Amino acid sequence: MKTSNNKRKAIALLSGGLDSRLAVKMILDQGIEVEAVNFVTVFCTCTARSSCKSEARKAAEEYGIGLKTLNTTRELLDAVRNARHGYGRGVNPCLDCRISMFRKAGEYMREAGAGFIVTGEVWGERPMSQRPDAMRLIEKESGLEGLIVRPLSAHLFEPSIPERKGWVNREKLMAMEGRSRKPQMQLAAEIGVNDYPCPAGGCLLCEKDFAVRLRTLLEENPDPPIAEIQSLRLGRIFFAGNGNRIIIPRNEEETRRLTALAQPGDVLMSAGGGIMGPTSVIKGKPVGEAALLEAAALTARYGQGREAEKVTVEYYPAPGDSENARPDDCGILEILPADGWRLAEELERQ
Ligand code: SF4
Repeated sequence: MKTSNNKRKAIALLSGGLDSRLAVKMILDQGIEVEAVNFVTVFCTCTARSSCKSEARKAAEEYGIGLKTLNTTRELLDAVRNARHGYGRGVNPCLDCRISMFRKAGEYMREAGAGFIVTGEVWGERPMSQRPDAMRLIEKESGLEGLIVRPLSAHLFEPSIPERKGWVNREKLMAMEGRSRKPQMQLAAEIGVNDYPCPAGGCLLCEKDFAVRLRTLLEENPDPPIAEIQSLRLGRIFFAGNGNRIIIPRNEEETRRLTALAQPGDVLMSAGGGIMGPTSVIKGKPVGEAALLEAAALTARYGQGREAEKVTVEYYPAPGDSENARPDDCGILEILPADGWRLAEELERQ
């Protein structure tokens, strides 16, 4: 590990969005070496076509700087379980999350022999984590007091150590605040930052429906496998009387992904006899008869047999789990499809 800090080298938090691109460009334009870190978690809602990881990679390539991607899903889950500074509108512990992110960035800064951190934060842009008092708290609790340079809003803060010592020319930094993107777009045109993505993506932890799903999972298993969290994004979820979760995929893509994410102990279920329909997944406690019947009625309800008197439904263990499967983990049920929306409304929580 390198130990000597280089005052002319910075570690930038780079998401690849407009703000972080501008911040990096402003620091590079001062002749300062920059290396970037990008944080990703299973809770990011970027699309597969344009993830923040690939936006960060594109930006790093454009600026010719090194990029380290850090997956901080476990740290964020810890923060969700023990949010010391509270939650936003879902189960998003933004302050704790940012503290942990900045701590990691600080560790990397020391490891890389850099002298300070650069961010694209804008005073007052985000209600929870970019309030001035929150930004100061994050800075203090992450052990980076005085070492964070925020080129877009620097003049609204006390000068950082790099600004006071002249490693960074404060005169060339800005005083942006608030949620409007206009000043950033104007600056982008002035300093040649092009091809930046529209604001998109976000964090599932802020979504109320996802928050309900995640809370239920964490009550069941405080340390769930990542695949279990990924499956929370998919399908309609019903809670059977005994606490099992029944997940009904809404299309073929969700069927494929839910089947691939199924865990040992899960039970899969689909209509037999050539009737098209979803492959449902039952998760949670060992699946009892009542849960099987509820799942079968729902599986039939969401397939082409929804109007039939009776539908044959087959159930079987998750792929790759046949070794642990017990004889009663597979079978066939004859079932009346769940009655229109009545049963669904009784069971569905979203
Ligand atoms: S929105 Fe999600 S990723 Fe962003 S700071 Fe909050 S918890 Fe962390």
